[in-house]
Amino acid sequence: MDAEVFRRHGHEVVDWVADYLRDVERLPVLPPVAPGQIRAQLPEAAPVGGEPMEAILRDFREIILPGVTHWNHPRFFAYFPANHSGPAILGELISAALGVNAMVWQSCPAATELEEVVMEWLRRMLQLPEDFRGSIQDSASTSTLTALVCARERMSDFTINRGGLGTQGGAGALQIYASREAHSSVEKGLRVAGFGSEHLIQVGVDSTYALDPADLERRVAADVAAGRRPCCVVATVGTTSSTAIDPLRPIVEIARRHGMWVHVDAAMAGSAAILPEMRWILDGVEGVDSLVFNPHKLLLTNFDCSAFFCRDPQALVRSMAITPEYLKTGVDPHVTNFRDWGIPLGRRFRALKLWFVLRYYGVEGLCARMREYLALAQAFRQWVDASPDFEVMAPVKLQTVCFRYNPGKSGGKSPGAEELERLNRAILDEVNRSGRLYMTQTRLGEIFCLRLSIGQTQTQREHVRQAWEAIRGTSVVSAPR
Ligand code: PLP
Repeated sequence: MDAEVFRRHGHEVVDWVADYLRDVERLPVLPPVAPGQIRAQLPEAAPVGGEPMEAILRDFREIILPGVTHWNHPRFFAYFPANHSGPAILGELISAALGVNAMVWQSCPAATELEEVVMEWLRRMLQLPEDFRGSIQDSASTSTLTALVCARERMSDFTINRGGLGTQGGAGALQIYASREAHSSVEKGLRVAGFGSEHLIQVGVDSTYALDPADLERRVAADVAAGRRPCCVVATVGTTSSTAIDPLRPIVEIARRHGMWVHVDAAMAGSAAILPEMRWILDGVEGVDSLVFNPHKLLLTNFDCSAFFCRDPQALVRSMAITPEYLKTGVDPHVTNFRDWGIPLGRRFRALKLWFVLRYYGVEGLCARMREYLALAQAFRQWVDASPDFEVMAPVKLQTVCFRYNPGKSGGKSPGAEELERLNRAILDEVNRSGRLYMTQTRLGEIFCLRLSIGQTQTQREHVRQAWEAIRGTSVVSAPR
């Protein structure tokens, strides 16, 4: 594709993106397609000859777009927000054009140094400890896996990397602790890092669904008494289900006594700590070893962009670095080679879009948007609280509200647990099928809950209000009883 053809289609695509972002609200959030419907419209094999861009873009609009779930829709309230912004999209576009691989400093000095700079900006914004150093990873899952490998290596004096898990001989099994509300990426990390799921010790939670330090203490003591070796605690700041906040200070205190690594999974909630009034969620972070949060969740930086901080980059390098001849450069002693700070060798130039976002909005702009998300969640919580037949199921500390329909809330006979689950599932199915909003569910303890997660870039109060009206208007709720 020569420059002029690229320019023509580039303009067309940028125009399309601008229109899409302006008009996305008119589309159904969840596409009304059946499994296999999109694939059935596509050829089984790649075309032998090239095709014109006109045909490719037409098929994008006619075949692919109708099967897209619109994460950028202002009434997308499912899973977690993966919010975006104009500056982030433009940064991503330029990054694609540059096509650099930021694996070592020399492979793109600007990418490495900009990454160092924006990570330092984020460190200051979250008031993380001064000795924390950050790198950008693709996901919180990868960051947590990296932290688990570091914990494993530090605990084994960096011998497992060399000899494998089997070489630990009679030494007791390495145990990892996380609350039972921790994200599934923790267990996946354990599997991949060779600890084994059985060595994930699920710690009990308190009434707010946050890790109970007394239970952690008990479980660690039991393991020590049985000859097992406490290795790492993964604390969650902002659990996926209900954004519960594990208390870092007492966790660190227990971990320190046993030489454990403390990793903080703040994938979604971490961004909120840019607000001075929310910084309490990281109280005690001075004592942790590593922390991850995803600017791609609430900081207007489109997916993927995960900020991974570590107190001791040498632990990372000792766990991760392998230096074949073809990757050596003359400046290695003087520079950061981010390939040694994580799992993949190849690394995208993600710092660019983050830099665009941080500069375009400034800290104040990002704080203002974050405050709006938190305020919208509080507004929704109040509507639920005030309603005669819906109830809030967990404290609303951030931008997520767990709630359920319960016609027995204001007296009268409450349906049994199974019936309540059936009614709430029916509400969820109906609103999602309507295309007006998209919401997902969770389970708190045994209780099935609806879950509204606020944080899309364009979401305003009217959208949250419309969601509440759509929920209240479902046949389950509005049918005469
Ligand atoms: N940890 C928590 C607390 C999360 O909420 C999520 C995503 O929802 C993850 C980890 C996984 O994040 P990622 O998709 O970046 O691996």
